[in-house]
Amino acid sequence: MNDSLVARDNYKMLRFRNTLTGRVEEFAPLEPGSAGRPPCVRIYTCGPTVYDFAHIGNFRTFVFQDILRRHLRARGFQLLHVMNITDVDDRIIENAAAAGLSLRDYTEKFAQAFFEDMRALNLEMPEHMVRATDHVPDMVALIQRLAEKSFTYTSDGSLYFRIAKFPAYGKLSKIDLGGIQPGARVDVDRYEKADARDFALWKARKPGEHFWDSPVGPGRPGWHIECSAMAMKYLGETLDIHTGGIDLAFPHHENEIAQSEAATGKPFARFWLHAEHLIVEGEKMSKSLGNFFTLRDLFARGHKPSAIRYLLASVPYRRQLNFTFAGLQQAASSVERLRNFRLRLRTEKFSAGESAAVERARQAVEAFGAALDDDLNSAEALAAVFNLVRDTNAFMDRGEFRAGDVAALEDALARFDAVLAVLDGQMDAGFGAGAALSDAEVDVLLSERQKARARRDFKRSDEIRDHLAQHGIVVEDTKDGARWKRA
Ligand SMILES: [Zn+2]
Repeated sequence: MNDSLVARDNYKMLRFRNTLTGRVEEFAPLEPGSAGRPPCVRIYTCGPTVYDFAHIGNFRTFVFQDILRRHLRARGFQLLHVMNITDVDDRIIENAAAAGLSLRDYTEKFAQAFFEDMRALNLEMPEHMVRATDHVPDMVALIQRLAEKSFTYTSDGSLYFRIAKFPAYGKLSKIDLGGIQPGARVDVDRYEKADARDFALWKARKPGEHFWDSPVGPGRPGWHIECSAMAMKYLGETLDIHTGGIDLAFPHHENEIAQSEAATGKPFARFWLHAEHLIVEGEKMSKSLGNFFTLRDLFARGHKPSAIRYLLASVPYRRQLNFTFAGLQQAASSVERLRNFRLRLRTEKFSAGESAAVERARQAVEAFGAALDDDLNSAEALAAVFNLVRDTNAFMDRGEFRAGDVAALEDALARFDAVLAVLDGQMDAGFGAGAALSDAEVDVLLSERQKARARRDFKRSDEIRDHLAQHGIVVEDTKDGARWKRA
């Protein structure tokens, strides 16, 4: 297998759906490689706002950007990837004040928790993990650049970006600016949908709030300016790829484009890749519906990092992901199947020689890479993996597999796992003990049992009852339906 994947030929098929153009486009980094060094892809990812633990919807996006990183590297690119930590915004300031803590003391716990969660899911650390509060002077400098070009105006001590002066506004989200009132302002960090108004670059100091003294007055940066300032500081004025969840496309990313391009006169990001929403059991995830999960919630219920990573990675990022507990069980079995396959490869005795299994492995590696080249089609990539597992198991069962085939299969698994990152059992060590079922899981199982009873499938209904009993859930059938309680 050719390992020097830096030649143009090796990635000419790489293509991504670009939110900016609405099309699938061939991807190559802006800067070509030089003097034996492969080209470098410069990526910016909007990271977490550290006022709480990140939830599984957030991690859907972070797993997607990890798959992107790993596949780009597998194709031979160097990476320069920046992720920000938003450690100053309205909610953080409010919560820190309520807790009587400094911003850093308040956010530190959640920032550390985020890093722990990243490690648990085998998410690679970007080359730069940067905090907003460490870059306030960069934000001020960018605001001053915008002020010099008359893109800003002051109102009550706050500085706003004048959208009317940037005619390209709306090009990413295709928002209709018809109803925009020129000069209408918004200075909160939380937005109503489809409400494009002049946004705050710098917010005037309010009594009792944390603030910075700066040449643009005492106050604090708005949320959007931090990403523009930090992205351009580390990656230059035009980035190759900007990623984030689809909910950030408007207004956050639209505003990033406006600020950056107004300041530099250059395109800000060439490719915009947005991960679609995650829903839970078919419904929007929300605290009020009781279907809101952080990673920690799932660990506490005995689910393993490998299964969660697998499930989040298994649906191509541009498709909505319906997170279900049945799906999580399936993901766990899929990981198990892969690990068992590798164990069989390593422990079974095969007779000497080579077989067609070597060529079959080569085809699977090619199919896996080609699927990911196609806008990171992870579902197709996983199909290639499991087709190979099925075919090779069949070879082994028929006694056709040979000792000389093992290396090719090990190589294929290593290439798959360089992107999937679920094979190493170590990642699950310390997780999954004392598995308890969540209320949502119990409800799902009970409704399945109800359906089984309705079709008089009492074998299945008893199985589910036993399964629940093993998890300490007692089911009582009443004339009004089934009730349950924890034993
Ligand atoms: Zn951002």
